[in-house]
Amino acid sequence: MTSHPAWIEVDLDQFRKNLEAIRKRIGSRKLCLPVKANAYGHGLVQMSLAAEWFGVDVLAVSCLQEGIELRRAGIRLPILVLGAIHEEQIGQLLEEELEFSLSSRFKAQLVGKLCREMGKVARVHLEVDTGINRTGMRPETALALFEELQQEKCFWIQGIYSHFATSDEPNDPFAKKQIAAFSEVRKRVDKAGLVWHLANSGGVYYYPESYFDMVRPGLLCYGLTPDGKEDPEIKPCFSLRAKISYFKVVGAGEGISYSRLYVTKEETRVITVPVGYGDGFPRNLSNLAPILHRGSRYQVAGRICMDQCMVDIGQHEGFVGETVTLLGRDGGEEISLWELARLAHTDPREILCRFNNRLPRRYGQERVKLR
Ligand SMILES: *Cc1c(COP(=O)(O)O)cnc(C)c1O
Repeated sequence: MTSHPAWIEVDLDQFRKNLEAIRKRIGSRKLCLPVKANAYGHGLVQMSLAAEWFGVDVLAVSCLQEGIELRRAGIRLPILVLGAIHEEQIGQLLEEELEFSLSSRFKAQLVGKLCREMGKVARVHLEVDTGINRTGMRPETALALFEELQQEKCFWIQGIYSHFATSDEPNDPFAKKQIAAFSEVRKRVDKAGLVWHLANSGGVYYYPESYFDMVRPGLLCYGLTPDGKEDPEIKPCFSLRAKISYFKVVGAGEGISYSRLYVTKEETRVITVPVGYGDGFPRNLSNLAPILHRGSRYQVAGRICMDQCMVDIGQHEGFVGETVTLLGRDGGEEISLWELARLAHTDPREILCRFNNRLPRRYGQERVKLR
């Protein structure tokens, strides 16, 4: 492990508990874990290896590149590429035996042509758009394409799926409409053995009637509920910590950091923390982000810089080399992803996947000693 003074801790034990809690809800259906965008910042390869070990059935990535990275790491689970495929990627998708989405007849023709040239069979999931208007065919087109591809030996249709536009809260009429539309498509396909899937985290959490044969919850597996409500069984497994890099006493009326957005009222103690927006810590949390030190809560003072930020700890003590927490628990206090997301006016997924690889990730159950 590197000795970089800021790092992410991923609690694989909690991750496993989250998966188990989801298993309890979905019964014998398949569990597909989205690991796109570096597994929501948790680390693509490590989380996929853990998922394989913990009995996840399928991994979902967004693009070819992520799929290849998993194959290179020796992952043998089925890998489904969710995003639209591009013509120049088809050869490699087939070569690496990745499952992928088909959302148009045009792409299907390109795939069919290459399959015949290469002597390969394409493992595909037809994507039906039931209301998000992102990718996916209208039900009629999907049904027609399904019939056509049935006749072709080079297509192995694994599944048919759709994606929610609004499922983060219970009793959403549009979510119910999408479930009904998807069920309607299923009624019209007379073929056994297909894997029908629709539910993301919101679907799994609030709409049992959306489970079908497989579910694809991302956020929930990483321990966050779709709307930020506490859940006794599902908890985050991601913490961000750093070692204090500097300490000083600052007189009254002094500005701290760029643009002097924070001015001290009285003589105070200020610590510097080696995390900044260059690591993915949102700059718009300047003067806002909470920080935990010795089990107490403080706030970032002034602008968050590219590589560091400052914290006014008042008359409290703080030593260089001590650990502070920017996300996660310290003693009785916790900074949650939902709290940071709300402060930054965004979604917790965005906060998570902004954290880049300058921050080493530490996996395991053992807690790093906070003091
Ligand atoms: C990202 C994604 C998911 C997972 O979404 P969450 O809301 O994080 O559970 C599921 N399905 C598709 C198609 C996605 O793009």
